Amino acid sequence: MKKNENLKILIDSNTLNKRIKELANDINNYYGTKNPLTIICILKGAVMFYTELAKHLKMPVKMEFVTLSSYGDSEKSSGKIKALNLAISDMENQNALIIEDIIDTGLTLDFLLKFIKTNYKVKEVKLAVLFDKKCARKYDIQPDFCAFNIDDKFIVGFGLDYCGFYRNLDYIGYFE
Ligand code: 5GP
Repeated sequence: MKKNENLKILIDSNTLNKRIKELANDINNYYGTKNPLTIICILKGAVMFYTELAKHLKMPVKMEFVTLSSYGDSEKSSGKIKALNLAISDMENQNALIIEDIIDTGLTLDFLLKFIKTNYKVKEVKLAVLFDKKCARKYDIQPDFCAFNIDDKFIVGFGLDYCGFYRNLDYIGYFE
């Protein structure tokens, strides 16, 4: 089902891509260019951010994907995680960076962090998010790398959906 209201642009494509490049530079500066890094994309929402960010990383990178869901078809978190795919290749003694579209209550990232720490002997695991919606936080989790802070607004585009639609937009929008 699609929303009927007018979709307004919140962040345009140039601003998004410029900021993601800056964030990639911060990540390059933190990790350096020598040691391998496994970047883990949380599908589906992080897909655009993940691919754009990955293009600018300078170290040897392994790309992994998990599929998690906490929203269903609504504008609020269901409070439960549906894990559809959690198969990540071995990361023993390596650095891992989780890439997420938006941290809201923190449930999704809390779940994945605990899963990785319990099941993989990683050297270090960190979090990179496109958006941080701090006002909605229920779990004590802070991103290590964050492109934008956002207030309590439901946004779509650049990977973020409403009922499965709008993910393909090259900008971030909101409904008036
Ligand atoms: P959390 O587990 O932190 O509560 O929620 C994270 C997930 O909720 C995100 O990966 C994303 O799928 C969804 N989400 C949170 N806020 C928004 C939003 O403003 N728009 C959209 N489309 N999804 C959101």
